[in-house]
Amino acid sequence: MSFQNPVFIPGPTNIPEVLRKAMDMPTIDHRSPLFAQILHPALAGVKKVLKTEAAEVFVFPATGTGGWETALTNTLSPGDTVLAARNGMFSHRWIDMCQRHGLNVEVIEVPWGEGLPADRYEEILTADKEHRIKAVLATHNETATGVLSDIAAIRRAMDAAGHPALFFVDGVSSIGSVDFRMDDWGVDIAVTGSQKGFMLSAGLAITAFSPKALAAVEAAKLSRCFFDIRDMAKGYAANAYPYTPAVGLLNGLKLSTEMLLGEGLENVFARHHRIAEGVRAAVHAWGLELCATSPAVYSDTVSAIRTPEGFDANRVVGHALQKYGVAFGTGLGEVAGKVFRIGHLGSLTDVMALSGLATAEMVMADLGLDVVPGSGVAAAQAVYRGATGTAQQEAA
Ligand SMILES: *Cc1c(COP(=O)(O)O)cnc(C)c1O
Repeated sequence: MSFQNPVFIPGPTNIPEVLRKAMDMPTIDHRSPLFAQILHPALAGVKKVLKTEAAEVFVFPATGTGGWETALTNTLSPGDTVLAARNGMFSHRWIDMCQRHGLNVEVIEVPWGEGLPADRYEEILTADKEHRIKAVLATHNETATGVLSDIAAIRRAMDAAGHPALFFVDGVSSIGSVDFRMDDWGVDIAVTGSQKGFMLSAGLAITAFSPKALAAVEAAKLSRCFFDIRDMAKGYAANAYPYTPAVGLLNGLKLSTEMLLGEGLENVFARHHRIAEGVRAAVHAWGLELCATSPAVYSDTVSAIRTPEGFDANRVVGHALQKYGVAFGTGLGEVAGKVFRIGHLGSLTDVMALSGLATAEMVMADLGLDVVPGSGVAAAQAVYRGATGTAQQEAA
């Protein structure tokens, strides 16, 4: 494995040098004023990235999965019903976690490759006259299939049904890379992690709670201890944690939010969109198909690419790693062996993306697939040459 090549897995993502340095800190006293100067700007930066003024941010030493658990255990009680759609491995895992916590999950089954169906959410919520459903779950970007769903549409569905459930959104592979509007979309809990859009090592579960979610915490009966946001809030009020904080990661988070806001969120989103358009142009030139079934749901952070029938897509990933020292993502769950994934989020430029596409072409040609080396790269170059602005240079 070469450490010089970028990775093209959809998380953990490439870590910019400045963020690596920011995470590499000597030990400080985490009860000293110095820690407050790291903690509070990091929390404030996350709020800006989430486009929220109303929510409170809680960051745990964990990963995105710990963020899911934080959302559930702080607001729900055993036996509560939640509504969730399953359209890939990540939405599946969140549903599984709900069930293991003794929640009753009403699951909307969605073919993998499609987006979350706001109309089905609306039907079910409208039919739930007694308001049995306490929370609605949605995975903004299904990382397994490369599908971005319309979160605003699900909020509209909840409003159309006049349903008071809380609204929890997994934004682990979208936040910091594509537009996320916590307040505008009426999201009650947003969940992410440090190792995707924030371009850091894994190790932080990043959550934000709306006032409505905060109001549900006292009555919630699911057992929680490490992830209790009441302890965390008490800690923050004293410029501290209820336990030892991951100081280096938090310092990284502070700088990461400064970088994203410095580039300008809209520029960050435009950069991700442009890079993704180049990847999609390449996939088209290769004569291959995306797992995502329509342009309306194409993800700007990850593309899951179907290999021809009968060809094991894992061979692409294995060969790329072994021969060229480049990491792509494998297929997960239902699409294991059917797709390989190119992650294109975080610290990435057009030029870096071209190197990944060139590698994928060499790999596919080596493996005897009918792909003309250079075809996808040329298609992506056409997209990138048409790009304006300097955001791709600045992001490096
Ligand atoms: C990566 C990911 C997760 C899980 O995050 P971990 O940090 O690995 O626990 C959850 N949801 C989505 C959509 C993801 O992409």
